[in-house]
Amino acid sequence: MKEHDILIIGAGLAGLRAAFEGVTAGLSTAVISKIHPLRSHSCAAQGGVNAAINPKDDWHDHAFDTVKGADYIGDQDSIDMMCEEAPQAVLDLDAMGCPFSREEDGTIAQRAFGGQNFPRTAYAADRTGHAMLHTLWEQAIKNGVFVYDEYYLLDITTSGTGKSKRASGCIAMDIKTGKLHQFNAKAVVIATGGFGRLFASNTNAMTCTGDGVAAAMRAGAPGADLEMVQFHPTGLRSTGILISEGVRGEGAYLIGKDGKRFMSKYAPNKLELASRDVVSRAEMTEIMNGNGVDGAVFLDVRHLGRDLILERLPQIRQLSIDFEGVDPIDEPIPVRPTCHYTMGGIRTDKYGQSISLKGLFAAGEAACVSVHGGNRLGANSLLETIVFGKITGKEVVRFTKEEGKERPHSSTKDLSAQQKRIATLKAQPKQGGKRQADIRESLTDAMNEDCSVFRDEPRLTKAMKAVLKAKKDIKKMYIDDKEDAFNTDLVTALELENLVLLGEATVKSALERKESRGAHTREEFPDRDDENWMVHITAHWDKDKEEVTLGRDPVRTVDNPKYAPQERKY
Ligand SMILES: Cc1cc2nc3c(=O)[nH]c(=O)nc-3n(C[C@H](O)[C@H](O)[C@H](O)COP(=O)(O)OP(=O)(O)OC[C@H]3O[C@@H](n4cnc5c(N)ncnc54)[C@H](O)[C@@H]3O)c2cc1C
Repeated sequence: MKEHDILIIGAGLAGLRAAFEGVTAGLSTAVISKIHPLRSHSCAAQGGVNAAINPKDDWHDHAFDTVKGADYIGDQDSIDMMCEEAPQAVLDLDAMGCPFSREEDGTIAQRAFGGQNFPRTAYAADRTGHAMLHTLWEQAIKNGVFVYDEYYLLDITTSGTGKSKRASGCIAMDIKTGKLHQFNAKAVVIATGGFGRLFASNTNAMTCTGDGVAAAMRAGAPGADLEMVQFHPTGLRSTGILISEGVRGEGAYLIGKDGKRFMSKYAPNKLELASRDVVSRAEMTEIMNGNGVDGAVFLDVRHLGRDLILERLPQIRQLSIDFEGVDPIDEPIPVRPTCHYTMGGIRTDKYGQSISLKGLFAAGEAACVSVHGGNRLGANSLLETIVFGKITGKEVVRFTKEEGKERPHSSTKDLSAQQKRIATLKAQPKQGGKRQADIRESLTDAMNEDCSVFRDEPRLTKAMKAVLKAKKDIKKMYIDDKEDAFNTDLVTALELENLVLLGEATVKSALERKESRGAHTREEFPDRDDENWMVHITAHWDKDKEEVTLGRDPVRTVDNPKYAPQERKY
């Protein structure tokens, strides 16, 4: 048994920022990551992080842009807190040594991003996540965080029943040896990121499979907003690899097959810098109306000139050359909407504590403190990781200290249950079985096809059928590799079980929400319906029925007349 005060699952920005709070408060703080921490998806973030650090800017304006961007179902208490804390959170990183890009006078440089009325996105060239993650990793090493890298979270454990039920730790597999370990902790923080890999075309790392969200649901902590999936307007046509919104922030245009800009038809004021849901729908409409080429439109940066591209956008130039064979200095880049971000996650209060499982916390993309509601603004996610990593980290320290010396009980039955789960999977015969890669392909293709930018009941029903088929097939899933060490076949099979659960929750929630709001567009319900749908849909795992059931949770509001719902125009 490995015992720590605080157990953090996930070593991306949110996990490492929370770990910093735990370890500097003198608590034994451990981080588990299924890959080396520096390979976490946070490292891929390009464009930047929002904060009203310019004296001409005001955090209240940032909060208003976020409430509006979220299409009015973001939780206003969390949004206010995030935007007010943002400048300090960025300055903390700066003080730790994060190499942000600078203006001539030495202040942190900021660029424009979508859906916002001020250029408030701080950046480190087009490698912002990379710079931030390395900075927090240095802090983790320096301060003595226990790091279990290449450990895979199988399930969260709990102790007690009814009202005294609480999180007690987890069971994780050391991928290097295949050995299972039991962890015991006073508080468990889920920081496992999003699940964009549920969709065939996406910008996410292979690891973004929502393991922590699914495990939390299995342990009795509901998810919320799972129908809200963000499609980024500029994924590369053939791979879905991201071309940052920062490129449009620098002045890039979107053009169709006819070579003309089209955004003035959809967002006359903000044009290419309208919010992501608006731009993605515009692109899909152009493509469906025949103004695309091979399912893509084009992102044109030629007018920005070679020098600016080389200085501020070096990575996106290289990605375009390597993956699309196009040098953006000379040619426009083919792009299309691609699954990018999951607004939903583990439902928490504004400090990151699960609304129903004591001792369980969540931060970053895995959480639904709901600062993004129906649609996340670009550069608000890196911000969420460092603000809520910090706030949740402090809350966990408070909680852990209050718990005193008392430890929750960890039962060895949990360990044997997981050993059995893996043994069963390895013993599944090929004969009459289903290959995990095939199940995954059918599931992610169906989600891409039928639960995407535009949705309606017939398509969602088709997606549901595919999810239910995958759910049936995983019971007969076999893996080819039966070894213990570095069994990636086993890891991907376990990840698939999580994706299937999240697919069920996503499609059920999407069928339930009979309106169009944020990233969720129902063609048969084209309007937003504030009377009935100003709520979060929660998703619960029913252990006995082995299915996802739905509930509702009110949107948390604050007393601010500016936040009253208005028509969303850009
Ligand atoms: C290509 C790309 C570019 C982006 N650019 C921006 C941007 O410019 N600005 C912005 O604000 N946002 C951006 N985003 C979004 C943002 O980067 C992410 O939402 C954010 O970094 C997520 O951080 P996180 O700490 O929550 O999770 P992640 O960084 O995804 O880390 C998850 C961690 O959990 C661990 N983990 C997961 N499952 C398990 C398991 N079963 N067992 C053990 N460990 C596990 C992983 O190993 C990893 O350490 C971008 C996203 C992408 C995909």
